[in-house]
Amino acid sequence: MFCPICKGEFREGFTECTGCQVNLVANLDNITEKIKGEFLLCHGCEREFHDIELDHCPGCGLKLVRAVLHDDTYVFLEEPVMEFAPEEPEGACDHFDYFVDIDDADAVVVLESEDLALLTRIQEILNEAKISFCFKPAEDTPSTSLGSIFGVGSPLARSFPRVVVQRANEAAALNIIANHPELDLFGVPEELLEGEDDESEEGYEED
Ligand SMILES: [Zn+2]
Ligand SMILES: [Zn+2]
Repeated sequence: MFCPICKGEFREGFTECTGCQVNLVANLDNITEKIKGEFLLCHGCEREFHDIELDHCPGCGLKLVRAVLHDDTYVFLEEPVMEFAPEEPEGACDHFDYFVDIDDADAVVVLESEDLALLTRIQEILNEAKISFCFKPAEDTPSTSLGSIFGVGSPLARSFPRVVVQRANEAAALNIIANHPELDLFGVPEELLEGEDDESEEGYEED
């Protein structure tokens, strides 16, 4: 048994580290036991959250880490990670002028990804290009044919959040994204980039 604070090893039969006054754990690399005095800590802004169930810091969005305070020093009970809460889909609309509600029937997916930072960047680019778009959150219960092939509940059947545009703007949107200097593309297939015509270009201007 080990002390989660001083990491000291104890013989069988001990349940507490008398020096640190906490209960011992079986495995320091994976502390499953509830440690006396533990709380959730944001290791970004050093805010403590006691007796509350939270995954991410409400202030900065960073994933919280289990910790205890010992001699005015935080001791982590698990590896802190630089992982942020996904952005609220509603929140994303606020600062975009070209965020519109697009009906599913008229929606064409520009990008579907787990990478929310990338999705946000795509929205910024479309917004700058004055192309109307919409953000669709992931669906837990997909209605697509994938569901029937792989069966309900399969991880493959789960959709990712995505950015969509109106069908009329599809070619323009894909062109802008594919040619954007900042994004070294995630392989938009050639055939998608061949617009039916070239008049889609008049819808936007670089400035
Ligand atoms: Zn100890
Ligand atoms: Zn924080």
